[in-house]
Amino acid sequence: MSEQLELYDITIIGGGPAGMYAAFYSGMRDMKTKLIDAKEELGGRMLIYPEKMIWDVGGVTPILCEKLVTQLVQQAKTFDPTIVLGQHITGLERQEDGTYILEAASGERHWTRTILLAIGRGILKMAKLELEGAERYEVSNLHYTVQELGPFRGKRVLISGGGNSAVDWANELEPIASHVTVVHRRDQFGGHEKNVLRMKNSSVDVLTPHEVTQLYSSNGHSIERVTIRHIESEETQQLEVDAVIVNHGLKADFSGIKDWGLHMDDWNVFVGPKLNTNLPGIFSAGDFAAYDSKITLIAGAFTDAALAVNSAKLYMDPEAPYMAYVSSHNERFKEKNKALGVTEE
Ligand SMILES: Cc1cc2nc3c(=O)[nH]c(=O)nc-3n(C[C@H](O)[C@H](O)[C@H](O)COP(=O)(O)OP(=O)(O)OC[C@H]3O[C@@H](n4cnc5c(N)ncnc54)[C@H](O)[C@@H]3O)c2cc1C
Repeated sequence: MSEQLELYDITIIGGGPAGMYAAFYSGMRDMKTKLIDAKEELGGRMLIYPEKMIWDVGGVTPILCEKLVTQLVQQAKTFDPTIVLGQHITGLERQEDGTYILEAASGERHWTRTILLAIGRGILKMAKLELEGAERYEVSNLHYTVQELGPFRGKRVLISGGGNSAVDWANELEPIASHVTVVHRRDQFGGHEKNVLRMKNSSVDVLTPHEVTQLYSSNGHSIERVTIRHIESEETQQLEVDAVIVNHGLKADFSGIKDWGLHMDDWNVFVGPKLNTNLPGIFSAGDFAAYDSKITLIAGAFTDAALAVNSAKLYMDPEAPYMAYVSSHNERFKEKNKALGVTEE
């Protein structure tokens, strides 16, 4: 290797609850740690629901999710890991000595003895309207998000989708737009029941189970008309529109990593009892790791993280203790307790 890279004991990919807790725990195990996330912010999927009250994390009384993220970030930084944000890891090269070089899509490289994949559902992207040529209208009147209501004033708006956001946007646009139609493949809608009822009891036209099958434009620039089809009868009808808003949820992207030779399916990597993948020195924790009796919750992510880090430590040093201890034997906590003003016997 001609380039000058610093070797880390463990590189954790993914800064959600699993990755953040692993960054703390690997510090407890005296491992030189790097934590990488594709986003510019730590928190993982918890960043999607900052306003939610979290009730089901042991020892934590109901807490706003964004506050729990702040505390997790603080804990992750306890032993000063190197934190790298804004890098989407895609490449992997195994070196002759068994170490690995990871590569980001943007070209940065990272050298490591072990890897912890805490990548949850991968890089989440908006699911696009899967109709030929749809992308050309993204610059005019095909929207995947509503940032401002103003541009929809007086317009005939069609919303495709039935998630939380689709329902919220329908309710917000109803008094502003000249007409709102919601088209959804299922009869059931996501989101709060009271918001769904509000939408159904308003002037919004709710068409289920329907889907958008074609977009028309006479000027080639903006959508003027759409065909919608009833899912069961396959009957179609045309609607004149001024704007189309699509809310088809999020799609997982494991690009790069799915070519590493891991034993995985569309959503998960299969791990053994040590949270080990089929590749030597590569472990997984959190929602990405699949095994019997798996719990895809924050609390499960913490347990996975501790187990996987212990396995990585033992992979590097088979003589190391099985797990970390918070005790007077752990010098690092002795110092930190002193800094907190706690004196120990
Ligand atoms: C709406 C909602 C509400 C929820 N409510 C609760 C609740 O009340 N209680 C509870 O316990 N759980 C709840 N959950 C579940 C919980 O959020 C997940 O179980 C948890 O976030 C999983 O953590 P993780 O660290 O495995 O993955 P994630 O939180 O998904 O984090 C993965 C991180 O990896 C990064 N990443 C992915 N691929 C790469 C790559 N190639 N390179 C670099 N970075 C990458 C992503 O950017 C992301 O930041 C909820 C989930 C949702 C969606």
